[in-house]
Amino acid sequence: MKDLEKLSSMLAEIDDLLSNCMKCGMCQAVCPVFAETQKESDVTRGKIYMLEGLAKNMIADTKGVKQRLEKCLLCGTCSANCPSGVSAVEIFILARSILTDFIGLSAAKKAIFRGMLSHPKLFDALLGLSKKFQGVFIKPANPEMGTYCSAALSSFIGERHFVPLAKQSFYAKQKKLQSTSKDSELKVLFFPGCVVDKIYPNIAESAVAVLEKNNTSVSIPEIQACCGIPALASGDARSFETLLKQNLEMFRNSGAEYILTPCATCTSTIKKVWPMMAKNLKLDCLEQVEQIAEKSKDISEFLVDILRATPPALSNGKGSRVTYHDPCHLGKSLGVNRQPRELLNAMANVELVEMQNADACCGNGGSFNLQHYQTSTAIGNRKCENIKATGADVVATSCPACMMQLTDVLSKDNQAIPVKHVIELFYEVS
Ligand code: SF4
Ligand code: SF4
Repeated sequence: MKDLEKLSSMLAEIDDLLSNCMKCGMCQAVCPVFAETQKESDVTRGKIYMLEGLAKNMIADTKGVKQRLEKCLLCGTCSANCPSGVSAVEIFILARSILTDFIGLSAAKKAIFRGMLSHPKLFDALLGLSKKFQGVFIKPANPEMGTYCSAALSSFIGERHFVPLAKQSFYAKQKKLQSTSKDSELKVLFFPGCVVDKIYPNIAESAVAVLEKNNTSVSIPEIQACCGIPALASGDARSFETLLKQNLEMFRNSGAEYILTPCATCTSTIKKVWPMMAKNLKLDCLEQVEQIAEKSKDISEFLVDILRATPPALSNGKGSRVTYHDPCHLGKSLGVNRQPRELLNAMANVELVEMQNADACCGNGGSFNLQHYQTSTAIGNRKCENIKATGADVVATSCPACMMQLTDVLSKDNQAIPVKHVIELFYEVS
């Protein structure tokens, strides 16, 4: 009982955020998880009721509430449509970290976030090792999509179709490809993000090549730390803080006017979650975090709004129909919907065909996909049908996590529609 009183005082920190909800239920109509499960506990209003119940000592099942809080994509669709402006993602992130503080972090998550992710060199070395042995556990799934699946029944991989770890990460190649620092007007720091670095290095190479071609001096931190969102989404604010501080150290004195990433989730985390958490954790680096957030941009946003870059007109390039999926962390979180489309429209060999509900969540949600794969896939399958209906040859997007999800659902549906980042298409015609 005494413990629950302690929890109640911890939850008082988010009382103001919770009290904005007027329980109208409009979030039900838009939440992709609710659309599949029809459970009130899966939607914002239901989650807020549970948190209020805990705060008022009317509910004692802390683990049950935590589990229900984790059944959320953190997509922000509810907030984007909420008449009261409830900051659902902020509430869920803070509540998950309060409950994790109270209940404790599982041994497995401690090993992953505190033992591995918080030590970038060790994390790189372990993934380098996994890469060497991954061939034993996987087999080709859909050669036209370049996907693999589990070679034997594996509870971790399950039915997933995926692009495996790259033979060489962007950082491993970078040692050979040292960026040429020219005396150009704009100095940018490039932050690829873990998934791009290790699974999709071609995205990072394309981005650096396009930036350099557009007279931009690109610097790349010697080693990068994860942006911290996987740890924070699991409630581990301590690992998040460690990773944030490591990144700040790398960014310090970079002299960069902009920090660019090709990963919508990293961009949104740096711009929105870093300042929110620096304030919440009362960190003395808040000012630096706010400056970095201000300077950080998505790669398409930078190319269109700052560089005003356009691809050269092609005289005889092969034309393709391309449809664009808006990542929630770029569109809903940062309002960047126009710029990727402007880049695609500027490519002479691309015909942009809009799919229905292009801004609907793909269902990945990071750890959500790991914990709730069936629901995640059901949401992804809706997207798959909308993509197929366009007759597109290629799906473009701006987030490697969305790429993984779209690839999985399209590959399992026996499609041959490659999923590419906008910057890869831009590089191909540049
Ligand atoms: S979160 Fe917003 S949309 Fe949902 S019930 Fe509360 S006020 Fe209504
Ligand atoms: S963030 Fe997305 S998944 Fe979570 S409650 Fe809101 S709409 Fe549903």
